[in-house]
Amino acid sequence: MQTHNLGYPRIGSNRELKKACEQYWLGKISVAELIKTGKRIRQYNWQLQKDAGVDLIPSNDFSFYDQVLDMSLTVGAIPKRYHEVMLNKTNNELDLYFAMARGYQKHDLDITAMKMTKWFDTNYHYIVPEFDKEQTFKLFSSKIINEFIEAKEAGFKTKPVLIGPVSYLLLGKEKQEGFNRLDLIKNLLPVYLIILKKLKEEGVEWVQFDEPFLALDLSEKAKEAFSYVYAEIKNTFPELKIIIANYFDSFGNNLDLALSLPVNMLHIDLVRSNTQLDDILESDKLSLKIQLSLGVVDGRNIWKNDFKHSLYLINKAINKVGEDRIFIAPSCSLLHSPCDLDSETTLNSEIKQWLAFAKQKVDEVVTLKKLVNFKEKESVLEKFKANQLAIESRKTSKLIHNNKVKERVKTITEADINRKNVFKKRKEKQQERLKLPLFPTTTIGSFPQTKEVRTWRSKLKKGEINKQEYDEFIKEETKKVIRWQEQIGLDVLVHGEFERNDMVEYFGERLDGFVFTKKGWVQSYGSRCVKPPIIYGDIQRTKPITVYWAKYAQSLTKKHLKGMLTGPVTILQWSFVRNDQPRSETCTQIALAIRDEVVDLEKAGIKIIQIDEAALREGLPLRKADWQNYLNWAVKAFRIASSGVKDETQIHTHMCYSEFNDIIQNIANMDADVITIECSRSQMELLDAFAEFNYPNEIGPGVYDIHSPRVPSKTEMLALLEKAQAVISTDQLWVNPDCGLKTRHWEETKKALIEMVNAAIISREEALIVS
Ligand code: GLN
Ligand code: ZN
Repeated sequence: MQTHNLGYPRIGSNRELKKACEQYWLGKISVAELIKTGKRIRQYNWQLQKDAGVDLIPSNDFSFYDQVLDMSLTVGAIPKRYHEVMLNKTNNELDLYFAMARGYQKHDLDITAMKMTKWFDTNYHYIVPEFDKEQTFKLFSSKIINEFIEAKEAGFKTKPVLIGPVSYLLLGKEKQEGFNRLDLIKNLLPVYLIILKKLKEEGVEWVQFDEPFLALDLSEKAKEAFSYVYAEIKNTFPELKIIIANYFDSFGNNLDLALSLPVNMLHIDLVRSNTQLDDILESDKLSLKIQLSLGVVDGRNIWKNDFKHSLYLINKAINKVGEDRIFIAPSCSLLHSPCDLDSETTLNSEIKQWLAFAKQKVDEVVTLKKLVNFKEKESVLEKFKANQLAIESRKTSKLIHNNKVKERVKTITEADINRKNVFKKRKEKQQERLKLPLFPTTTIGSFPQTKEVRTWRSKLKKGEINKQEYDEFIKEETKKVIRWQEQIGLDVLVHGEFERNDMVEYFGERLDGFVFTKKGWVQSYGSRCVKPPIIYGDIQRTKPITVYWAKYAQSLTKKHLKGMLTGPVTILQWSFVRNDQPRSETCTQIALAIRDEVVDLEKAGIKIIQIDEAALREGLPLRKADWQNYLNWAVKAFRIASSGVKDETQIHTHMCYSEFNDIIQNIANMDADVITIECSRSQMELLDAFAEFNYPNEIGPGVYDIHSPRVPSKTEMLALLEKAQAVISTDQLWVNPDCGLKTRHWEETKKALIEMVNAAIISREEALIVS
């Protein structure tokens, strides 16, 4: 039996890569210095894995920005608009690469970035490949080969990791209609063959192809592509050892296809789906030659592996196919784990003993191998005992279990998940109380988080100012933003969220059951890293969270102030969650906590309350067959959070995306009185889903894109509002930007919102003339 790893985090334990990239972009360090940083991280990672005793260490898991973009550069899928970047002689291959990732505004060029989207159901974002009908491929970048050589020269025999050709095409998008990107497979494959040839010349033994699309529903065409590609690879290089890595779900109904591929090893994710082991072991299609890589250590979460459970799975596989055919691995690349638990010096020690980050996970993989080997078992027996002690302590810890919370979840009734009356009734009462005009204007919650705001927060953290001084400052900022909103004539005001660092962290820090790391960074995209909170125990709200600020802001104005909360699904989705109970259970606990907050806001005189569910859609399972189950509990959680209030209290929700078509019924089932959504980038197209469905409640389709510093004109916004009116009735429409304004500067924010209010006023007047 052997061990391998699918990928190691590349940002560095101290985010060295992030810092170096950002310095390079600012022109503060040279390309040579940036490259040196990359090299240092790779060497460190390889050494760490070698020292731990991993048999197959990955290479090409490093990336300066994103592994999918690396692949695009490797196979020369470089959209034409970037070709000009290279005309400038001072630019190098990395400049071209970053131009694709981030856009390019220099030397009289103004080129937009390539699109970015979520990597399956993780919080990692990749750069979406763009394909032309006449797309050709050629070996453009030799990164894969260079990294292999670099490792070899440093004494590490590595296993290059590449995105498999079928998944690579499926990850991309056709830039024109009239062709299917899978048709490009015949053009693409030769480049992969060239890469393999070069790798072979350098002495490569194993190559890992990541093909996570095998965990999704596949078209016939995609299945054929899989069979074609891997047969060709086998024919051309019969002696190369090929691994196909699948993760994030089981092969499901692609199992026969996967087992039919002429490869040497299949990697399976036994964390996401441990029942698939039986399916594979029992299948009569399981070839006697194929090796199995068992992904038993969770690559996406931070919990210590339960050795006993893993050994049970490993032994089951060994009994069936023999030890020689088994590899042990993390479930997926460790890219999604923080780097090193040892850096957490202030974490509660009881909780810390339950955790494992990337470095610790590598060690777990190796320890599991030793535990199976009777010669080595003795040497790790202590580790096994410690592991089981930690696992046991977590099961019974008082820190985790709160019977009051568990009981409350069990006794949720129908009444708790329904507003008192149907929307139509509520709408009347709300109108009578709120007296809002047609096309009411509002914003999504946050106003610019200026450098000053962030400086004050960090001063508070460092103890340079006290809480009172900080609060005074926040009060001043809030007051200013209230006055300004009044001045420009917005109808529903917000307090600006100046007191919040992050929409999930802020709540997590104020709820029982959450803990925060100091350095638990995970790459989100490019140089951007996030530090997800860890949900370790039953969640409870012991005191109000936002009431103080909402009440303060409301006291400053006669206009309605909208309370601002993060929804249960979003808090769940953007945290590391417990693995000792279903996600739905944890989500329900959060929902109850938010419900209490909603009720308290109402008591404090807040008449409009927004519950953001920015992450509801991204929580969708990979396979469609699993969607409804998720949507049921996710929607229910929102309803639990929002249903404790009177009819007169208006509940808003906000989602920053636009693909609603396939889940619109569920969005309606959330039964928010008002939903604000992202619409401006798609030019209101997505409203079609709402129109077709006859969406009953009120909608604020974002009328301008806050992700860009560009100031839209009122004419543009009016045009969008007209489009909206064509499909949605006037008395259902709100006017707002498409997301929070946190990342914007004041200058453009002011201009844009003034234009927006004007657009609403004109729409109002026009509507009155028509009626
Ligand atoms: N209320 C949040 C804000 O305005 C919503 C952010 C989001 O949807 N991502 O910042
Ligand atoms: Zn948003």
